Amino acid sequence: MIILNRLQGGKKFAVTMSYDDGSENDRPLIELFNKYGIRGTFHVNSGNFHHPKKIQPEEFETLYKNHEISCHGERHRTMQVLPSVNVVQEILADRQNLETITGQIIRGMSYANGSYDDNVINALSACGIVYARTVKHTNRFGFPENFMEWHPTCHHRECLDMAEKFIALTERKYFSRPALLYVWGHSFEFVTEEDWKMIETFCQMVSGREDIWYATNIEIYEYITAQRQLVISADNKMVYNPTALEIWFTDDNAEEYSIKPGETLRLG
Ligand SMILES: [Zn+2]
Repeated sequence: MIILNRLQGGKKFAVTMSYDDGSENDRPLIELFNKYGIRGTFHVNSGNFHHPKKIQPEEFETLYKNHEISCHGERHRTMQVLPSVNVVQEILADRQNLETITGQIIRGMSYANGSYDDNVINALSACGIVYARTVKHTNRFGFPENFMEWHPTCHHRECLDMAEKFIALTERKYFSRPALLYVWGHSFEFVTEEDWKMIETFCQMVSGREDIWYATNIEIYEYITAQRQLVISADNKMVYNPTALEIWFTDDNAEEYSIKPGETLRLG
């Protein structure tokens, strides 16, 4: 039996961060993330650069290097109260602006003010958005069934508690499925020395581990989506990888496999 319980590089665990609004505290926050090898996604509003406390486009390439830049709506509008045509405008303009700034294809998103419904999801999907983060905390370590409603593990207020639980999970002898610690917040919420101490302690707790994949949001989306596309024969003896990513998995004897893009693997 094939079991889809390995992540990128055969790792069992992943950590990702998600920060909204692109404000000036992204600078010291990213400095910390870079120091500890933590990676994440920065959701910015490409129509709000006139605000002096926002990170300006000229700084994107150097500041957000090794992280992902993603949409947060052009003007941070609350999506649920917009007619669909304006949802499309808000997100398509944001994608276009961010793609012009970065020279990359932008497909990620977090909901401004956490606002979304089925109509919003339909409009965003039509605009080429493939995942969108909510503000509903799960306090759990699962992967989303529907990436257009990607509920994070916790806000950074609870990050130390959740990091402790996550590390305990990684140390369990019998481990049955991959786990993701997904923390979100706004960098402007770090005000006092204690706030900064908290996030640095978090980085120290989760960093430097061989079995943890430090990923951006889109990297996790891409890997899990590719993994879900593996084609498996009825007798479980053949696996075909139709995707562009190498995928890792095990069988129920805990034998580890990886399958390259386009490859067909014959097992046992
Ligand atoms: Zn926001």
